[in-house]
Amino acid sequence: MLPEARSLWLLRLLRDVQLAQFYRPILEELNVTRPEHFDFVRPEDLDSIGMGRPAQRRLAEALKKYRSGVKSKNWVNKILGGFAPEPKETPPRSGSLLCLHDPEGGLKCLIPESAVCRGELLGSGCFGVVHRGLWTLPSGQSIPVAVKSLRVGPQGPMGTELGDFLREVSVMMKLTHPHVLRLHGLVLGQPLQMVMELAPLGSLHARLTAPAPTSPLPVALLCLFLRQLAGAMAYLGSCGLVHRDLATRNLLLASPRTIKVADFGLVRPLGGARGRYVMGGPRPIPYAWCAPESLRQGAFSSASDVWMFGVTLWEMFSGGEEPWAGVPPYLLLHRLEKDRARLPRPRLCSRALYSLALRCWAPHPADRPSFSCLEGLLQEARLSEVRCVREVTEPGALRMEPGDPITVIDGSPDTTSWKGQNGRTLKVGNFPASAVTLADLGGSPVAHPGPRASPARGERCRGSPDGDRERTTSQDLPPAQSQRRKVALQRMKGISRSLESILSLGPRPTGGGSSPPELRHTRAMPQGLPDLPPRPTFISSSSQPTQPHKAQPPWPQRGPLNDHRTGVPGASKATVPSGGLLSDPEWQRKVTEVELSVHGVTYQECQVALRTTRGDVASAIRNLKVDQLFHLSNRSRADCRRILEHHQWDLSAASRYILARS
Ligand code: AMP
Repeated sequence: MLPEARSLWLLRLLRDVQLAQFYRPILEELNVTRPEHFDFVRPEDLDSIGMGRPAQRRLAEALKKYRSGVKSKNWVNKILGGFAPEPKETPPRSGSLLCLHDPEGGLKCLIPESAVCRGELLGSGCFGVVHRGLWTLPSGQSIPVAVKSLRVGPQGPMGTELGDFLREVSVMMKLTHPHVLRLHGLVLGQPLQMVMELAPLGSLHARLTAPAPTSPLPVALLCLFLRQLAGAMAYLGSCGLVHRDLATRNLLLASPRTIKVADFGLVRPLGGARGRYVMGGPRPIPYAWCAPESLRQGAFSSASDVWMFGVTLWEMFSGGEEPWAGVPPYLLLHRLEKDRARLPRPRLCSRALYSLALRCWAPHPADRPSFSCLEGLLQEARLSEVRCVREVTEPGALRMEPGDPITVIDGSPDTTSWKGQNGRTLKVGNFPASAVTLADLGGSPVAHPGPRASPARGERCRGSPDGDRERTTSQDLPPAQSQRRKVALQRMKGISRSLESILSLGPRPTGGGSSPPELRHTRAMPQGLPDLPPRPTFISSSSQPTQPHKAQPPWPQRGPLNDHRTGVPGASKATVPSGGLLSDPEWQRKVTEVELSVHGVTYQECQVALRTTRGDVASAIRNLKVDQLFHLSNRSRADCRRILEHHQWDLSAASRYILARS
């Protein structure tokens, strides 16, 4: 195909309205190659290529006509148009082009590739990698941003990842809330990139699990985060959306006291009269955070998000521990439903807050409080702040000095020993109630005895005031997992523990820690859960903290590591390195070097590539580049290698060469 052929429609359309002179700028500066790309073009973008407003109106008209004439089966349209919760497909709004209106006057737009400069790697998720970046606005001003790039996987850019990526864009562009991560725009480059608000302090999970000397977070701050989260989730629900992946790893810290909900890749519209979304096919889900109805039937609703909120609360007060660590997916539903087991109360969590979490974990979705109700309940469950009036040095007691601010976690007027956190030392423990006063802080030190709060905004809260309608056994799990496992998880940071399915129905391959992305992708959730399956052999997380399970999983293989990523015979058998290699700094240095040299690859892929080349960094980089190119095109690997050699191994030049000829 000639390079121009794929954009012939644009040339014809522009010629029809005597705007053919804008063909090249639209194609090359705005990167518009498909009609649907105009969804992301703002009038300002067209201004920047010198198109006047009357010409823009002509173009908008022509596009409208083009669209009504062509019932597009285009992939972008299918995904964005099919998903968007707004009633109409994508009509031009207020006479302008298909621009994105932002109530705050923000910049949700199509961003030229050259305006974004990517820097340090911030993390990797399901769709690809996230880099810190700098976005230069047309005014010349540069603002720090986060750039999420779609990884071109083994199935090419048309796979599930693309759908989720575009859904995330589609959702984020409609959202405006102080505690929801903001989307600035989209780069229609190769790969596709989302330009988002930067959360400079990273994920809440990383902050919670940061090793010493980083200090723990004050419990009062955690309560503030919960209120912010409930507000953001109430907003999301009011937009008719269900998040489906609420967890501390998806809460980003925009400032020390501000969290933002992020990662909208699993968001879905709440369809139908029952206000729920039922999964239509096998997809991975974050099983340990899921409500029973999600595990059983793949059903998600605001009420299942509320369940996840309870698990997120538990994570926050457990220092980022993994919920249900060591409980395999196939057993979890049984534990939740048959045993009525619930996550235990974390040491830092007040009784009132825990009782609220138990309400979020009511077996029946209708019995769980709504998010707007939770906002009120959280307000009522606020912890009291008091001040120390005399030194406490008794053995076993929380040490404090006069003047220390103390957050009361549990305490009531009829008890003499209270539990609290010293705001100066951030230590938690019991102390004599007589050692503190309310004098200069106001309020009552009496911890609220439970979520007996009146509903927020006049809404009637669901569920009985004493928690679940049915008795809930708070069954203690093994105590918080060892520091050793935490360290292993730290090493694997960037790997979401999220997307595993209850229906993997087998032992957890990673032994309780994070699941590498390739495993997340390979665990799929069928539409319904017939009944609990026979129990397979289970390897506990504590017995094998970092050792991958060797057996072939009983689910279809889809992940990049189980295919031909390295292009070398036998590479499919490669696994991620054992704990020994993971802790080798030289190995880690090499993996990082490879990761930084090849665009769009994951840490895991680099590990596999390095293993295959026995640690030879240069060969691993070349193999991965061949692979990336191979997945972009229908060329053979040998061809890709030749093209890369011709372009001095410049992957981006080679990609452009291939794309121009595809
Ligand atoms: P995701 O693909 O959304 O799961 O993101 C993967 C990781 O990248 C997250 O866990 C964060 O550590 C990091 N990240 C994602 N978005 C941002 C952002 N806007 N600001 C800072 N870090 C981010």
